[in-house]
Amino acid sequence: MMPSRRSVLAGAGGLLFGGLAAPAPALARHHRVMLGAFEVIVVSDGGLSLPIGFVLPETPRAETDALFAANGLDPARLQSQVNVMLVRTPKDLILIDAGGGTDFMAGLGQFPDALKAAGIEADKVTKVIFTHAHADHLWGVIDDFDTSRYPGAPHLMSAAELDYWRQPDLATRLPDAFQAMAAGTARRLRMIDDLLKPARPGDEIAPGVSLVDTSGHTPGHVSVLLTSGSEQLLIGGDVLTQSLVSFARPDWRWGADMDAARAAASRRRTLDMLATDRIALLGTHLPWPGLGRVERKDGAFRFVGA
Ligand SMILES: [Zn+2]
Repeated sequence: MMPSRRSVLAGAGGLLFGGLAAPAPALARHHRVMLGAFEVIVVSDGGLSLPIGFVLPETPRAETDALFAANGLDPARLQSQVNVMLVRTPKDLILIDAGGGTDFMAGLGQFPDALKAAGIEADKVTKVIFTHAHADHLWGVIDDFDTSRYPGAPHLMSAAELDYWRQPDLATRLPDAFQAMAAGTARRLRMIDDLLKPARPGDEIAPGVSLVDTSGHTPGHVSVLLTSGSEQLLIGGDVLTQSLVSFARPDWRWGADMDAARAAASRRRTLDMLATDRIALLGTHLPWPGLGRVERKDGAFRFVGA
């Protein structure tokens, strides 16, 4: 018997993250916050548990052990949320990333049920923005019929990101750990091809909703800056992925970053902007509900959860 698509791709997830233990399933949950005239809704897709050797492949274990022990974290594995965001503006209901679905790895794929529990129907979504095309942000857009869960909405992704993942020979040129994801992402982009619209950093997707270049984690990674009156919030995606390391050690190479130097530069630039301009931050993988502020600390930064 042929292995099912699900088992093949679950294997791909295990390969990428170097073998993972599924965290306990979270309850379907959501969190709402107002930002001026906008309502921001955070909905959980579940969580990941990542081995330290994958997330910080170049940092000596003595250094990670010391930093994690000083901050009360498990030195062997990092627990990580997958938070999905929606923004309700006076005219739009905008979905930002779509979760990982059930094909990528255990512990994810709770977003559709959690969205329903929040009282939101998928067909009310008017626009979809992808920060980038990694599996935990893109693959959940696909339903059981291999079509988008949000057929009434244009799906915006940066042109640089689209061009990158659409390269026909991409998978063969990537390190082993990324090959299965590249093939899976390319296949899903084809499934939503009729809905995909290229966008660019600086584009205003709706009044007060604009894209910011935070490339490096992936070649065309963008974040979404919300502005309503005097209030601002950056929906960061994966520009700042971990509540301790990304802030206190922004120059440490993060294993999921595809261009390490550019990712570190984007982290530094974003941290500086958030701290200087006192812009709130909402992050996909930051502790539930992913919301907080950035402060300067000891020549670097720290995340202060809301
Ligand atoms: Zn991610």
